[in-house]
Amino acid sequence: ATWIAAHGGTGNRLVVLAGPTAVGKGTVAQYIREHFPEVAISVSATTRAPRPGEVEGKHYFFVDDAEFDRLIAEEQLLEHATVHNSYRYGTPRRPVEAAISSGNPVLLEIDIQGARQVRRAMPEATLVFLEPPTWDELVRRLVGRGTESPAEQQRRLETAKVELAAVEEFDHAVVNRDVGEAAEKVVELMNPRGATQRP
Ligand code: 5GP
Repeated sequence: ATWIAAHGGTGNRLVVLAGPTAVGKGTVAQYIREHFPEVAISVSATTRAPRPGEVEGKHYFFVDDAEFDRLIAEEQLLEHATVHNSYRYGTPRRPVEAAISSGNPVLLEIDIQGARQVRRAMPEATLVFLEPPTWDELVRRLVGRGTESPAEQQRRLETAKVELAAVEEFDHAVVNRDVGEAAEKVVELMNPRGATQRP
C-alpha cells in the first residue's frame, strides 16, 4: 500500500485477466502481445516443463521446485498458486512494479486464486474475468484442444463450475466470443480514459 501511495496509485494500469480453464486467457494474452506492444505482459515463473515452441523468459521463466521455493522465501513473487493440482505458477514482483512506475500498462494472465491475491496485495488493480459465451462452448473448447486426458478434462470442468461463480468478485466481465474483440475490450480497460473514466 505504501508503494502505491508513493507512486500515485496504479489505477487501471495494472489489469489482471483471469477466468476458468479453457476460456481462452492465453489466446487473448497472445493477441494483446501481438497487437498492443505498449502493454507489458508479465512473464510468470512456473515449475512445469516448457511445451514445444515456448521460449524461456518470453512465455515463462521455467524453474525447478527449489528455485520456486527460493523466490517465495525472498518475497520475489507478487502472488503464487498451484494450478490444477499440479505445477506452481507465480508473478515476479519487480518487473510489475518497474512497468507501473515507468507508466506502462501491465497485464497479468493468471488463475483465479492468483487474482484474489493480487487484489489483496494491490487493491487498485483492475480485475477482469474472462467468460465463455456459454457452458457448452467452454466444454467444447476444453475437449477440442485435446491437451488433457478425459479424466483431467472431467476434473477441470468440476473446477470450472465453481470458478465461474468468482465473476462476482471481479470488476469487469468480458465474454470471449471473438478473441480480437475480447482483447480490445481488455485493453480498453487499461486506457486511463477508458470505460471507468469517460471524458
Ligand atoms: P499453462 O500451464 O497452460 O500455461 O497455464 C495453466 C494456468 O496457470 C492458466 O490458468 C494460467 O492462467 C495460470 N497461470 C499462469 N501464470 C500464472 C501465475 O503467475 N500465477 C497464477 N496464479 N496462475 C498463473
